[in-house]
Amino acid sequence: MLKKQPGSIIRIKYFSKENIAKKNHETKAVIRKAIDIHLINSKDLTTYSNLSNEEINQSLTREKLIELCESLRLTGRSGNGFLVADKLKAYKSQKGILLINGVECDPGLIHDAWLYRNQLAKVQQGADILQKALGFEKVILATKEPIREGKFKYSQIKIRDQFPMGYENYLIKTVLGRKVPQGKRATDMGILVMNLQTVLAIVEAVNNRASAYTKWITIADMRSAKAYAVKVELGKDIMEIIKQVFRTQVFSKGEVFAGEGALNCHELEKDEVITDTTSFVAIGSMPNYSKAKKCVKCGKCSRKCSAGVEVLNIIQHVQKYGKVNRQACQSYHPEKCIGCGACTYGCGAGKDVRGIVGWAKGENI
Ligand code: SF4
Ligand code: SF4
Repeated sequence: MLKKQPGSIIRIKYFSKENIAKKNHETKAVIRKAIDIHLINSKDLTTYSNLSNEEINQSLTREKLIELCESLRLTGRSGNGFLVADKLKAYKSQKGILLINGVECDPGLIHDAWLYRNQLAKVQQGADILQKALGFEKVILATKEPIREGKFKYSQIKIRDQFPMGYENYLIKTVLGRKVPQGKRATDMGILVMNLQTVLAIVEAVNNRASAYTKWITIADMRSAKAYAVKVELGKDIMEIIKQVFRTQVFSKGEVFAGEGALNCHELEKDEVITDTTSFVAIGSMPNYSKAKKCVKCGKCSRKCSAGVEVLNIIQHVQKYGKVNRQACQSYHPEKCIGCGACTYGCGAGKDVRGIVGWAKGENI
């Protein structure tokens, strides 16, 4: 059952074959809609938690919140599928900082922006829950746009809409001016970074124990550069979802893609379902990276890389010798690559830079 909610206009950049050919990677799409495809029936979920409503709402301690997240096996919604309980356990400070990450990295994702525009009261509730249980000295919500004044009682900061701002360590550096040392975690420094949608999932976990089984994803039509923020059920067949969103249209293999984002997705496999790491589903065609085009050595890929990979050197190696002698690329530090795709996004020659770095790193591509 489709349930449309009030939408809003969000500008979003997409790749398209045509744009790649024109060396222009941006298309503005201004259509915003939200559709609840499947909201799970919460009465089926109450057995997953032994905590009573009273226990949860009246005296929500750190231990009870962890217990609740553990009992639901609640996973983070940022795409890496970590267990929320483990992240909460790792945060041991008394007066630290909660940094709510509403800054999606991938240029194809729009659901975080839709959520802070349309469900800010719930974000506020989530911040209250975490604040009450973990006692932060400061709570900060980072978004790509300013939040209307008075709508969020904690701090809010607008971050430049640029790759790869949403990555945890990069966000910490941008917002707090602090660097997470190699081998350390943000929680070791008294900083808990929570994805915006994970915060909303915690609210649902506290309110009705329903969060473990649904998530918001972006569903994009690459042909028209329109995108939808859609709440879906984990385990749901992606083709079924596509049929519900694009009612009258029929899609065949090769026309549907799924993954973590526009820069990190694959052709839909048979019977593929929504998992913890699915954040993006698209129809149409994905970028046709130019293998023939020569790298013009502009160096933008290296400049865009916040992870410190010597991207241009790797590209030059592959351009000169082909994908042989991976070992020779190791001094350019491909192992530091976090797969954000900023290099590919910035490449004026339309090359699959991220893919080439992935090869140097040893990925099977
Ligand atoms: S090399 Fe890796 S980390 Fe650096 S910009 Fe490209 S994908 Fe991101
Ligand atoms: S951004 Fe593209 S063209 Fe520029 S140096 Fe990197 S690979 Fe070459």
